[in-house]
Amino acid sequence: MKIKVNDVHKFYGNGDSRVEVLRGINCEIQDGEICVLLGPSGSGKSTLLNIIGGIEMADAGCIDIGEDCTKRMNEKELTLYRRNHLGFVFQFYNLVPNLTLKENIEVCAYLSKNPLEIDELLRTLGLYDHKDKLPSQLSGGQQQRCAIGRALVKNPSLLLCDEPTGALDYQTSKEILSLIEQVNRKYRNTIIIVTHNDAIKNIANHVLKMRDGMIVSDYVNENPISAS
Ligand code: ADP
Ligand code: ADP
Repeated sequence: MKIKVNDVHKFYGNGDSRVEVLRGINCEIQDGEICVLLGPSGSGKSTLLNIIGGIEMADAGCIDIGEDCTKRMNEKELTLYRRNHLGFVFQFYNLVPNLTLKENIEVCAYLSKNPLEIDELLRTLGLYDHKDKLPSQLSGGQQQRCAIGRALVKNPSLLLCDEPTGALDYQTSKEILSLIEQVNRKYRNTIIIVTHNDAIKNIANHVLKMRDGMIVSDYVNENPISAS
């Protein structure tokens, strides 16, 4: 899915404490791209990701999603957009603690019109042999794989990841990035990754750098370096 961000502004607070955290963002993310959104903490990356994902609304400007525009959607249409087209992955895995790995993925599949086959997905994720375990019996990397599975099972055209390796060590982070690449090749979805980890830009086709609520660099990476 192609995404176009048109002059997006976002403010938090009011009166004297009102701050502009996004100050006129313009960018275009092509269908099937792995796009990395880099920048220091507080530069506005998560806010932009949440606006693209329809979790927060822009105060000015708009997002074109394929043929649609979030500004023209009502609450119900936004909910359907999130449900049918988007997968979210966060730094902390948000798994349901008393469900097994497979059940964690199944509950997300129920909400979906056109879910992926779960056993095959578990194999892609390298989790098939652990499918009957509870989250507490798994490593951080395995839990994040499961969280990626929860986001992917509805076969979203857009996968949004906010610091997906933020809680993981170097080696496990590499494994998760390698999985994200594999997912992108297999399912051809557009993937946006927010991070302050500069190394992640190596795997991206497209790099956006933010600072103080603005995009300060926007380039295509002709030669992504695989994490695996
Ligand atoms: P990043 O993801 O780059 O760390 P964020 O988008 O989380 O940046 O935050 C950008 C700025 O907006 C920060 O200064 C943050 O404190 C502020 N901010 C984020 N969310 C809120 C909110 N809900 N209310 C007030 N300020 C917020
Ligand atoms: P990240 O490092 O992933 O950007 P943050 O710690 O910036 O995460 O933000 C986590 C959550 O807290 C976000 O949902 C953001 O909207 C909210 N938040 C961030 N800064 C503020 C703030 N100053 N006031 C209120 N909410 C905030």
